[in-house]
Amino acid sequence: MSTDVNVKMEALAGVDPDALPLQVKDLHVEFRTRNGIAHAVNGVSFDLRAGETRAILGESGCGKSVTAQAIMGILDTPPGFITGGEILYRGVDLLKLPESERRKVRANRVAMIFQDALSALNPVFTVGFQLAELFRKHRGMSRQDAKARAVELLDLVKIPAAKQRVNDYPHQFSGGMRQRVMIAMALALDPEVLIADEPTTALDVTVQAQIMALLAELQRERNMGLVLITHDMGVVADVADRISVMYAGRVIEEAGVNDIYANPAHPYTKGLLESIPRLDLKGHELSAIKGLPPMLTNIPPGCAFNPRCGYAQDVCRQDPAPPLYQVSPSRTAACHFWKEVKGDE
Ligand code: SF4
Repeated sequence: MSTDVNVKMEALAGVDPDALPLQVKDLHVEFRTRNGIAHAVNGVSFDLRAGETRAILGESGCGKSVTAQAIMGILDTPPGFITGGEILYRGVDLLKLPESERRKVRANRVAMIFQDALSALNPVFTVGFQLAELFRKHRGMSRQDAKARAVELLDLVKIPAAKQRVNDYPHQFSGGMRQRVMIAMALALDPEVLIADEPTTALDVTVQAQIMALLAELQRERNMGLVLITHDMGVVADVADRISVMYAGRVIEEAGVNDIYANPAHPYTKGLLESIPRLDLKGHELSAIKGLPPMLTNIPPGCAFNPRCGYAQDVCRQDPAPPLYQVSPSRTAACHFWKEVKGDE
């Protein structure tokens, strides 16, 4: 395979806009620690279409952020190692590219927004300088043109008085405004895929809604694919097209958002849904999923969810883990008893 990713990308530039810009296939990531090997990602697969929002949902420690880091090529190695699988950007396996080519993809095609904007931005430079640097470095723009583009971007993410604020430092912005700056930086080079890792977790509820609305608007305008990493089913309901629910490093249910909310096919998904408040179910008692997710150095045999599962039977405690059963042509669930869970039997 040619390592010149730009040549390949240009050759592929005319593909059907509905093409899949991102495909993750059977991804495996492990962390080699003093306490043993933590199996953080165990065969994760998903596709992302142009203009689609794919939510990756699960409790902390389920492997969703590690999946994002692996896609971006920013995994801490060691201790983290990608031990198998493919990450295809427009058909090019990013895992086979040299770091110099990978960096070009990261800068131009696949961008990421982090949870903590304050630590992701450099405190000693103004936000305008940091934005302008992207245009100078990757687009060869003059200082003046790059600064003008920085102002345009701050305008785009609806930062009031962008012309003045471009000269401010990150600490001079509120949490919500800083997250807008992060979005501006991520979108600066017109990526085709945006990965947002818990982009609103550190913000209060009203600001969360504003940021998600902004992301959705920008995504629509640009027909960009969005991978939204979150533990919050409330956030997912409003914006996602498809959901991959993760547990102990595996995708345990994959479906369109309406199917999941109407009728989950995995007990874990069902438990997550029952633990969120719903206006349409007044007087409905909220329930939490009992127990804790397993240590990734010590995943139980069989179905990793079995110690917490009210549907578990003997077969669930024995290897192999349940495969992803085809629940319908467009959804899968890794549960031996998905029919009972879904209420089909
Ligand atoms: Fe529960 Fe068994 Fe289904 Fe796992 S396979 S989710 S333990 S019923």
